Amino acid sequence: MANTDSVRVRLAPSPTGTLHIGTARTAVFNWLFAKRHGGQFLLRIEDTDRERSKPEFTANILDGLQWLGLAWDGEPVVQSERIGAHRAAIGQLLASGHAYRCYASEAELQEMRERQAAENKPPRYDNRHRDLSPDQEQAYIAEGRQATVRFRIDDGASIGWTDLVRGEMRWAGADLGGDMVIARRAPADTIGDPLYNLVVVVDDAAMAISHVIRGEDHIANTAKQILLYGALGLALPVFAHTPLILNQEGRKLSKRDGVTSVGDFRAQGYSAAALANYMTLLGWSPPEGMGERFSLAEAAAVFDFDRVNKAGARFDWDKLNWLNAQVLHDLDPGQLLDQLRPLWAEAGWVDQASTDQAWLESLCALIGPSLVILRDGLDQARPFFRRPELNEAALTQLQSPGAREALQALLELLGEGPLTLEQAQDLLTQAMTAAGVKKGVLMKTLRAALLGSLQGPDLLSTWLLLQPSGEAAERIRRSL
Ligand code: GLU
Repeated sequence: MANTDSVRVRLAPSPTGTLHIGTARTAVFNWLFAKRHGGQFLLRIEDTDRERSKPEFTANILDGLQWLGLAWDGEPVVQSERIGAHRAAIGQLLASGHAYRCYASEAELQEMRERQAAENKPPRYDNRHRDLSPDQEQAYIAEGRQATVRFRIDDGASIGWTDLVRGEMRWAGADLGGDMVIARRAPADTIGDPLYNLVVVVDDAAMAISHVIRGEDHIANTAKQILLYGALGLALPVFAHTPLILNQEGRKLSKRDGVTSVGDFRAQGYSAAALANYMTLLGWSPPEGMGERFSLAEAAAVFDFDRVNKAGARFDWDKLNWLNAQVLHDLDPGQLLDQLRPLWAEAGWVDQASTDQAWLESLCALIGPSLVILRDGLDQARPFFRRPELNEAALTQLQSPGAREALQALLELLGEGPLTLEQAQDLLTQAMTAAGVKKGVLMKTLRAALLGSLQGPDLLSTWLLLQPSGEAAERIRRSL
């Protein structure tokens, strides 16, 4: 294992889309490992796909990491700014004979792949231009052919590494698809755009990355990259391949599964603390006695790859919801109000100055315990800001025997202004006696009148909140 006194890890997102939950989870594991060892967590923006990379995706990724609490060290490295170093490495590999120019045209390669498919063979480059004679090469150049640069991968090579998650790994050179393109097709006297495996090796080495922690979909790349490290004479980092995130059906989580970008979770009202906590559990088992609820800092104190599973991690909405509810339930009413106020303001229900702070906090205290995600605080609070329609069940209740008498009796007793809990209970008892109805009938009917529904939070607290503005009396009157 590399010297953990100088742990340097990196997240290397491609800004070709918004911050995906898989990338964010990779970020979490990198961050935890760095913090555990007092190391550095670096960022590299892999924007070499010039067509698909967009500055707004970079902004989204940085913003999402920040929101999750995954602060990185130093300035992000921008891969496209390092193209000189990438080209130099390719030049070095050409000079040392580890790489060569391949003049095969796209049409020729296509024909090769079709033939392989017809013979039921896996697609691979047949290394046809590996050992061209200088004359053959000159002939292709004279034809005006362009060339890619390919890196030799010997079929007989055996590539091994000790993976921090998966243990001893071994790959056969023959399974890597033949000599690998490391620079795109370009005029034969130039070096075209450098490609992923090469640039990652050059950049990881330049950034002195000690541990490469990334998703297991990169395992075959790791085998290729290890060959490149050797050919370039660079020191190998330690590798850790984290399990994929799977959907309910056990397939790799993808855009088709709906919410997969960190911004979507945020917009739905998940808290950063709950999402970060949940992502840590996606593949990592906390040590005995720790429980499943913890902060990133708490996880970092004990994080290690021995407790990262090899098997894919199934995305479990129930667990995420449970964690998120715990985070919300831990807030005191004032803190919850700070989070809900922007949503309520956007709905036009409150404005910063005029709505009574104590009343809003009481409302938060009332609905808080039933919230799972922050947006639930919109539905649950709506009947306190806007007079609700009466639903079917409420209408039926209001027409049932004794309902009218019960509400009428209560309305007659009801004065103006706020009530205490004792006064409200007292009024209910008096109204019951006056109307000659059971307590259950009165309570159910009052709920229907106040909330337009038979469901909702604690009835007496609801009433007390709607009382001071005269709204309780108004809703009872309307129901009659
Ligand atoms: N840009 C690559 C990705 O997004 C980085 C993979 C790596 O960590 O090397 O998958």
